[in-house]
Amino acid sequence: MLIVQKFGGTSVGNLDRIQNVAKRVSATKKDGNDLVVVVSAMSGETNKLVGYAEHFSKNPSRAEMDMLLSSGERVTASLLSIALSEMGHDALAMTGRKAGIVTDDSHTKARIEEINPQAMHDALHDGKIVIVAGFQGVNAKGDITTLGRGGSDLSAVAIAGALKADLCEIYTDVSGIYTTDPRIEPKAKKLDNISYDEMLELASLGAKVLQNRSVEMAKKLNVNLVTRTSFSNEQGTLITKEENIMEAPLVSGIALDRNQARISLMGVKDRPGIASDIFNKLATAEVNVDMIIQNKAHDGATNIDFTVPVNDLHDAKLVVDTFVKSGDVDADSYNEDICKVSVVGVGMKSHVGVAACAFSTMADNNININMISTSEIKVSMVIDEKYAELAVRSLHDAYELEK
Ligand code: ASP
Ligand code: MG
Repeated sequence: MLIVQKFGGTSVGNLDRIQNVAKRVSATKKDGNDLVVVVSAMSGETNKLVGYAEHFSKNPSRAEMDMLLSSGERVTASLLSIALSEMGHDALAMTGRKAGIVTDDSHTKARIEEINPQAMHDALHDGKIVIVAGFQGVNAKGDITTLGRGGSDLSAVAIAGALKADLCEIYTDVSGIYTTDPRIEPKAKKLDNISYDEMLELASLGAKVLQNRSVEMAKKLNVNLVTRTSFSNEQGTLITKEENIMEAPLVSGIALDRNQARISLMGVKDRPGIASDIFNKLATAEVNVDMIIQNKAHDGATNIDFTVPVNDLHDAKLVVDTFVKSGDVDADSYNEDICKVSVVGVGMKSHVGVAACAFSTMADNNININMISTSEIKVSMVIDEKYAELAVRSLHDAYELEK
């Protein structure tokens, strides 16, 4: 098999851990696999470099930041290569440039445009273990770019896609994806597998495990992703195409998003184009609107409620206030003490009663539902934040996810 293994910051957090990674890589190679290893900077290293830059400037050039930050990954890549050579392996460390990762010009948050994997192919062909410094590429002008914080996951997935690897393993300090946050529900169970779409919906569960951008890329490039821990031999969670999952459960997990705020617009003039005006202005202000509810109009006016991430609330208020000033909206109000709980599962495509079960679970616990939205594979409810944990635990019970 051709395997891409990616080791995150904690997995390479000190010299002993790099030695451990070398042992794992060595074992995978000895099993007869071809191997590309993508590494992060040692944990804390990127932040330390950011701190150094801030010592000199509040607003350093983003191109210089890329020169600086990309160095952390190169340290790990070369140390791992040296450790592997010492164990008798033929290993070769590469920068993002050598690995052929070409990006656009957006320094510090570049997007990968293409990968020219020739150098990696050649080295693999010679039987070498290829080690790539994650998180970085090069733009058309030859300047170093980085892919945004947490970006070495993306490097690994993109490389796995370009090389058509059989598997892309992401090693972190958590053992996989759980049915819900185990800190809220200790009975949460690790999933053996999950589809890309479910994983994207369960982002709040996977956020610390995997960058959403890398799951999207894995879906696009059809990369079989496994998240697992580098601290034991425990099996992880496979993230793959829906068709590859034999028996999809009705519900895979319960996600919780506390980072939501609700905006209510009262007395919105009921005329064609008003929703378009409001939501286009919000989009221009880069406010990320999630759920929207519009009520039936009364006397030429209606109410519109919607949710935004708490971080976007300030910008959203500025937009909404202009509609109050112009008289298109009578009044607005805001509520930050809400959260969104979501029941996610591809199985609900072909089953009835999944949403009804969610609603009765809320009713049984006397939790009032403020807003509802559904998609093919998700039922989301906005509720008061104080009920967040109760809601997650009772839904986890209701769908018997501990089994
Ligand atoms: N070292 C980079 C960061 O901390 C990239 C990564 O670890 O994925 O954001
Ligand atoms: Mg990471």
